[in-house]
Order: sequence, then C-alpha cells, then structure tokens
Amino acid sequence: MSISLEIEKLTKTFGEEVAIQDLDFSIEPGELFALLGPSGAGKSTTLSCIAGIETPSSGDVRVDGESVLPVKPQFRDFSMVFESYALYPHFTVAENIGFPLQAPIRSGELTEEEKRERIQKVAQMLEIPELLDRYPKELSGGQKQRVGLGRALIRRPRLYLMDEPIAHLDAKLRHHMRGELKKLIKELGVTALLATPDYNEVVAMADRALILNQGNPEQIGTPIELYNQPKNVVVANAIGDPPINLLDCDIQKEGGGLFLKGEGFSVKCNAALKSVVHKHNLAEGLIFGVRPKDITIEKDAARGLIRGEVYVFEPLGGEAVATVRVNKKLVKIVCPWEDKLSTGEKVGLSFSLSNVYIFDRKSGTALLA
Ligand code: ADP
Ligand code: MG
Repeated sequence: MSISLEIEKLTKTFGEEVAIQDLDFSIEPGELFALLGPSGAGKSTTLSCIAGIETPSSGDVRVDGESVLPVKPQFRDFSMVFESYALYPHFTVAENIGFPLQAPIRSGELTEEEKRERIQKVAQMLEIPELLDRYPKELSGGQKQRVGLGRALIRRPRLYLMDEPIAHLDAKLRHHMRGELKKLIKELGVTALLATPDYNEVVAMADRALILNQGNPEQIGTPIELYNQPKNVVVANAIGDPPINLLDCDIQKEGGGLFLKGEGFSVKCNAALKSVVHKHNLAEGLIFGVRPKDITIEKDAARGLIRGEVYVFEPLGGEAVATVRVNKKLVKIVCPWEDKLSTGEKVGLSFSLSNVYIFDRKSGTALLA
C-alpha cells in the first residue's frame, strides 16, 4: 500500500535566513510530485525536513495523517536520492548498490539470491551491469551518480525523496534515465517527491508540481495547468523552454479601439482582452506575455502584429529558435528549421490574441491566462 504525505505550514530558518516558508502540499498515494525552482529556492531544505535530516522550525510532516516528526530518520522508511553521492570507496559498485539491503533493520527480508537478482535488475535499468565489480575511483561522474541512484532504488521504501537525481548525467543519458525512473516508480507504485530546477523533468515525469520561489510556494498544479493557467509571472516563467516572452505595456485608447502599447509595438485588443481591460479597469503598468511556440514569423514584416529585426537564428534539429529584437527587447520564437533567417532581416511576429497572457507589472499577478 502506498502512503500519502501531507506537508503543513512547513518552515525552516537558518539564523536570519528563511529557507522555506509556510509550505503546504499533499501527495496522494503513488503520486509522483515535483518541487520546481531554481538553485536556492528551498528544494533540498524541504526534502531534508521530510527525511528528518533537518528539523523544521515549524509546521508538520504527516504520513497517512500521522506526524513523522517524532520518528527518527532511519525509522521513517524513506529513501533519499541525493544530487551528489558519497559512495563507499572500498566497496565495489555491486556492494555500494546493495548496501541498504544489509541494514540490520532489514535483515531477513530478502535471501542472498534475491539480493543479487535485485542488484542485477537495478544495474540493468541504470545501464551499468558491466561495472558491478569496479570500485568508485574507476567510475566517471555520471557513472557514480547512477550507482548512487541504484543505492536508493534498490529498496522498496514508503517514499522516494529525489534531490536532482539525474542532474549530472549528460543530455542523452538524462533523457533515458528520466523515462526509466518514472517507469520504475510507477511500476512500484511508491509515492515519490522529486526536486529539480529542470522544467522538462517536471513536465515529463510529474503528476503534479509545486513551484517554489525563494522559499515561498507559488502554485500547485499539473504541468498542463501550470503552463496554461499560471497565477503569476514567476510561474509563467518557470514552465517553458525557451521561457515565455514578457513585454512591458500599457493600455492606450486610439480612435474607437484599445491597444496594448509598449516600446516598439502596439497591438489592438480583441473582445476578450477588452473585457479584461474593463473588468480590472486596466490602464498602465502591465506585462504582456506570449510563448515562443505561439508566435509565427512573417517574412513580410508588414503582416506581423509586432515588427522586429532578427538578432540570431539557432537551428536545433527539427525546429529552430529565432531571437528577434523588438526595439531593445529580445523576443524568442520557436519556428521551423527551414525558416533560415539571417541576422538583420526585418520580420513580423504574429500570434493569436487568445494565446496572450496579461500580468500586473507591480504584483506579477495574472489578469488573463
Ligand atoms: P535548493 O535546494 O532549492 O537549491 P536549498 O534548500 O539548498 O535550495 O537552500 C535554500 C536556502 O537556504 C538558500 O538560501 C540556502 O543558502 C539556505 N540554506 C540551506 N541550507 C543551509 C544551512 N545549512 N545553513 C544556512 N543556510 C542554508
Ligand atoms: Mg538543492
């Protein structure tokens, strides 16, 4: 049976420094939940408080409704995957991976044969079966990380706590491990909490995520909800690569129409935008956001809603990212490889106004998403 995890008003301070503040979230049994935030956001602190490595300053951590704060870390039965691993230098890879199975509190759970089988299976998943007899000093950084990951995955704990588990792998292997890790966790049905600064990992792996910003919780949702309905600029910026384009603008009346007017552009509001403008009584101090995938490049600049000049064009294989300078601001667009734009070329940018986001510049709050 999988467990549920409830985090209530979790706060941790180090002296003056507030690492996390009033975190509230619940993870359903068997759910893969992610904490997404840049370095310093408080991800590791949150995981450490749940694991019992750190004592929270206030708040609670409950498993199936019962607080685990009085329970010593080794009896919580959580398995923590760290970003960097301290492997035992005098143990082989197989011994390192199998180490958690030797713990006295787990003696007699598995036969020696079953332990060997499980080590073999984990090594295969991590694509390191040929390394089982090597010692850590004979491994590359990426191989060490996989051994560390293996040591966490060898157990069947009540909860996996994964702190940037695949950060140090090269791109291809990271992609592979992302899928394997998700598959394994889902097959085992173990409740899991993943901390990562990489939105791609969240979108690919997580059922739901919490966006963390300097220790503060911004929004909880499925990856699609966070992408489509960000509550504010921070969340809009956190999900998407290249990130959403954000341009300062104000509302201006001209003739009978309303316009989003910024430096170097003026976009006529449609009915939906107009109703938002009236509803919130908007005038100035706004940010208008549009995602790189929602913009189309017009080679005939006059056809765009916004005009600019190509700054750089980067083919990525299959698609490309064009950076276009609009006045002083750089706007990113995902476009076909075949567009082959040259630096300095004048282009137009068109997009559907139904894909536009509007935020309040001061508070960052989304007014339309
Ligand atoms: P993340 O894992 O998201 O990069 P951390 O949880 O490691 O973030 O850190 C959050 C904040 O708490 C940072 O500002 C960091 O400097 C601070 N912090 C973390 N651990 C300690 C500690 N042991 N002592 C003092 N400050 C700490
Ligand atoms: Mg960290």
